[in-house]
Amino acid sequence: EAIADLVASRVLDVPDFPKAGIVFKDLMPVFADGPTFRSAMDAIVEHHGRGSFDVVAGIEARGFVIAAAVAYAAGVGVVPVRKAGKLPRKVLSATYALEYGEATLELHADAFTADQRVLVVDDVLATGGTAAATLGLIEQAGGTVTGFSVLLELEFLGARAKLAPREVHALLAVA
Ligand code: 5GP
Repeated sequence: EAIADLVASRVLDVPDFPKAGIVFKDLMPVFADGPTFRSAMDAIVEHHGRGSFDVVAGIEARGFVIAAAVAYAAGVGVVPVRKAGKLPRKVLSATYALEYGEATLELHADAFTADQRVLVVDDVLATGGTAAATLGLIEQAGGTVTGFSVLLELEFLGARAKLAPREVHALLAVA
């Protein structure tokens, strides 16, 4: 698929970031190139279909960039899923395990009206812990997650099983 090749041509492997032994996938070149960025954002909207979601939730921080562009293209709004301590009003919190240690994500408790259909976006789907925590928060807040879109999925980590039966869409998947 053309969009997969386009994304693949703009992924940089960064060894030993953020720590020794980890190869970080840097998707910033997808954001930095105008035609690639537009094609990627349009492909996400087209995959799910205009009118199939009411709001886009972006996961801090790279997910914000994608969420804003996808929401603008689809004519819907954006809700941020943030790291702990950043949101000013009453929040729901989810703490989940990382490879080393843990992380906490937060969502405004009143972020969604009842049964709003939410598309969740981020740059990379790795173990799926972040996306699964986000799913839990959105459901707790009364939203309905219609699907996930990421630029890159690391398929071998098995994130899809944590998100089933929801739609998981990756512009590029690496086995
Ligand atoms: P997971 O929770 O699925 O293991 O990790 C996904 C989250 O961590 C996403 O928010 C993503 O931005 C970040 N992440 C994990 N690994 C990478 C990576 O190699 N590259 C980038 N850009 N983000 C990553």
